[in-house]
Amino acid sequence: MRNIREHEVKEPVNTPPPSFHVLAKPAGARCNLACRYCFYLSKQELYPGGTFRMSDSLLEEFLRQYIEAQKVPAVTIAWQGGEPTLMGLDFYRRSVELAEHYRKPGMQVGYTIQTNGTLLDAEWCAFFQEHNFLVGISIDGPKALHDAYRVDRKGRGTFDRVMEGRRLLQKHGVEYNILSAVHAANGDHPLDVYRFFRDEAGAKFVQFIPIVERHNGAGVQEEATATDRSVRPVQWGRFLCTVFDEWVRNDVGEMFVQHFDAALAAGIGHPPGLCTFAPTCGAAVALEHNGDLYSCDHFVEPGFLLGNITATPLAELVGSAKQRQFGQDKQNALPGFCRECPVRFACHGGCPRNRFATTPDGEPGLNYLCEGYRMFFSHIDRPMRMMADLLRQGRYADEVMPMLAAEERAGGKRTAKIGRNDTCPCGSGLKYKKCCGR
Ligand code: SF4
Ligand code: SF4
Repeated sequence: MRNIREHEVKEPVNTPPPSFHVLAKPAGARCNLACRYCFYLSKQELYPGGTFRMSDSLLEEFLRQYIEAQKVPAVTIAWQGGEPTLMGLDFYRRSVELAEHYRKPGMQVGYTIQTNGTLLDAEWCAFFQEHNFLVGISIDGPKALHDAYRVDRKGRGTFDRVMEGRRLLQKHGVEYNILSAVHAANGDHPLDVYRFFRDEAGAKFVQFIPIVERHNGAGVQEEATATDRSVRPVQWGRFLCTVFDEWVRNDVGEMFVQHFDAALAAGIGHPPGLCTFAPTCGAAVALEHNGDLYSCDHFVEPGFLLGNITATPLAELVGSAKQRQFGQDKQNALPGFCRECPVRFACHGGCPRNRFATTPDGEPGLNYLCEGYRMFFSHIDRPMRMMADLLRQGRYADEVMPMLAAEERAGGKRTAKIGRNDTCPCGSGLKYKKCCGR
């Protein structure tokens, strides 16, 4: 009798997805600054005596493998750190040469770099402009809020140097977005931060990154408590809600905030474009300076090392059972509290890195930021539905602004009759005075 197993279609082993993303760190965790909340600086401990400098041969090997592995007509080459500009401009000139050399016919190659901005000069900016780099620059808000934690090795604030880098980017016509950490120091000042980016820093694209910092002395995240510098869950929720209220009344179609784009995408059934809110992980890996490949930028730890691309092809590592398991675990490990959550369709439990809290009934694996996410996704539900409806009708999302303004003029402000101790109508479950009415 034939074994029924002969008829089973086996999934090919180590088949990578048709496209995936690599965050490459050519200078490893090396940085010219010493931001107090940085989770990556301590990763140097993983490479005692390391060079923290990607060699020319590894650069070529990486780009060749990466471009070859993409089964789609576009690829983005993304540089990050540490501080990637420490490699010097010639490294990036060479990377563009190599990418052009290995580019497949008809393939579009895009470049991005995430920098603290302090080492940029006219030459860097001219190069970025010439090759259409999208530059992410880290700014945490106006001077006092930025300088609270973004300091150099002597403990001096870096605001003036960063803003000079931003000015040069703007002067040279380089496309840039602002990446702003949200933490204990700026978390209570959402409007100061957002309006500064919009009105003074000339930003069109903003990403907010919640700082959730655990003990990380040897490059490994430990302990189930967050440091005092971390943003508190409700503070994070309020921050997002307040910025959203400003944005949805004034700036839709003019300013692009990554969290809002992701929420709107979820509302119309599209992929979120932000891994935190995707149901699974696994398609964005991190490459260290020596060719070591890790499951994700937030899991550069020995337990999540997939291998080295000089020994095993990059595509094989991304398609490995270990990486697929890593990606699937995000969904499989969701606690019951998340599975029954009304905003799970948009939140998906958030990043696994931050799932060190327990649910109200004591189940482990809840996201530390849960309360903030619940507040945010509940608060934005109605205007997001309005925007999603507009898009489904083939109209523009920014039409929501006059619609909300007309409602408010007509006295439809839903807050009019709400008592301070009533449950907040945004659905967060908190009292109005502790939520939107704060
Ligand atoms: S682990 Fe977190 S940062 Fe990494 S891919 Fe998943 S959600 Fe994104
Ligand atoms: S809001 Fe909280 S309970 Fe709901 S899916 Fe997100 S982390 Fe889970």
